[in-house]
Amino acid sequence: MAIPGRIVQEEKNYFIIDTARGTLRAATRGLLKKDSKRVCVGDMVDCEVTNSDTREGIILTIHERTSCLIRPPLANLTQVILVCTVKEPPLDLEATDRFLVCTSAYGLTPALVFNKSDRLTDAEQASLGLITAVYRRCGYTTIITSAFNGSGLEELMGICAGRVSAFAGLSGVGKSALLSKIFPDRAFRLGEVSGPTGRGTHTTTCVTLLPLPNPPNGGYIADTPGIAFVDLPLVPEEDIAGYFPELEQQIGKCKFNNCIHENEPGCRVRELVDAGEIAAWRVEHYLKMFKEMIVRRRRYNEK
Ligand code: GDP
Ligand code: ZN
Repeated sequence: MAIPGRIVQEEKNYFIIDTARGTLRAATRGLLKKDSKRVCVGDMVDCEVTNSDTREGIILTIHERTSCLIRPPLANLTQVILVCTVKEPPLDLEATDRFLVCTSAYGLTPALVFNKSDRLTDAEQASLGLITAVYRRCGYTTIITSAFNGSGLEELMGICAGRVSAFAGLSGVGKSALLSKIFPDRAFRLGEVSGPTGRGTHTTTCVTLLPLPNPPNGGYIADTPGIAFVDLPLVPEEDIAGYFPELEQQIGKCKFNNCIHENEPGCRVRELVDAGEIAAWRVEHYLKMFKEMIVRRRRYNEK
């Protein structure tokens, strides 16, 4: 009888599958075999138990994916959690806004985690409060954590319930430390991912999906200390505003319907910026991405 499960780990010739009836070690069978490269961690599969003593089985079919990350290979990811810090390393709001646009453009749910809250002075805490207020007003999940004293961790685990999540973010922000707190029985490669893209040097390593503790809430977190969040996909420049929820809400409200909210008269977005309801830096980042898309589209068309 076929039972559904999720591939949580890849071994040399086997996949480890998490099913409602426990873990199974399974290979892909016959027909699927020639496609076996395509099977990857995160895939939902139907499998059959071939030996209930050794918990071995075979994979019969793979379900259709909702998403597929290439580096590292990971199917059906639903949420990407960007971990940032106010200092060490310093906060980069432009990179944060790019991340938000990028995840939305790929159909993934973004979340923002500001870690190392234990390190903040009162003044830094206040300025972080202003920033998180902006993101929360836009509707983004925003959590302040400390991997050192555990604050915000329950909230973080809460947003991972029922989802397949992975961390992204610069090296040194505390992704491994957060993973170690959530999964205390496992060792994580602390500080191993390097470079501004968070793209590690250990690119051959496969990802393992770790089932969240405290079922029945379900959900998995990828054990990677950071997925590489690549560049924005090529989208028409006029679509960029649609990826900024506070700008998206103003579509059709400016005097000119092709207003890009730069300095046109009768711009509703500018009015809201002046009124302090929309953060000026968000509009700045939007404009930068808007202009970048024009350049990229021209280059693309020339080719
Ligand atoms: P990663 O590169 O994002 O995986 O970052 P790590 O987890 O390796 O952490 C980088 C450094 O920051 C390590 O020295 C951690 O001990 C430290 N760190 C991580 N989280 C926290 C935190 O919440 N508070 C403080 N004070 N330090 C932290
Ligand atoms: Zn406008």
